[in-house]
Amino acid sequence: MSDLNQVGEQDAWRCWLCDESVDPDASVNSDLGPSVDNYASAKPKKGSGSGERLAHRACNTMKGKIAPVVPWSPDLVLGDPAPIFETVERLTRKPGRELVANCASERDAQAASDWLLDRLSRLAPDADFDTVIKPGGGQYLLQLVLN
Ligand SMILES: [Zn+2]
Repeated sequence: MSDLNQVGEQDAWRCWLCDESVDPDASVNSDLGPSVDNYASAKPKKGSGSGERLAHRACNTMKGKIAPVVPWSPDLVLGDPAPIFETVERLTRKPGRELVANCASERDAQAASDWLLDRLSRLAPDADFDTVIKPGGGQYLLQLVLN
């Protein structure tokens, strides 16, 4: 169990996939109980040297059998939202910039940018992501950038 506690503290008892809190005292057999997700990253977290993250048992990708999915917040107004997890993975392997969403207004784009950067500070704490909002064709394009 020391493993679980270590991973739990590293992720501040928050599920790395759904971003909801995980109760350290919940039964490990319940769907919302804590579990260690052995995510084999191409680029392991610095320091820990492993891809171990805290997940709810129901969210756990079960040793990579299920592809991790990180949902966008339903409160955001977005067009063509890109899959967050795959985009983050590509950029951490090969830094650059990728279009992640189209927004109808600059305000929507800014809200999406703020939400995404906050979300990524927990999803990929070792990577220093930034965003760019570009007006074009009557919309605002949100790009995720990793240098
Ligand atoms: Zn979860």
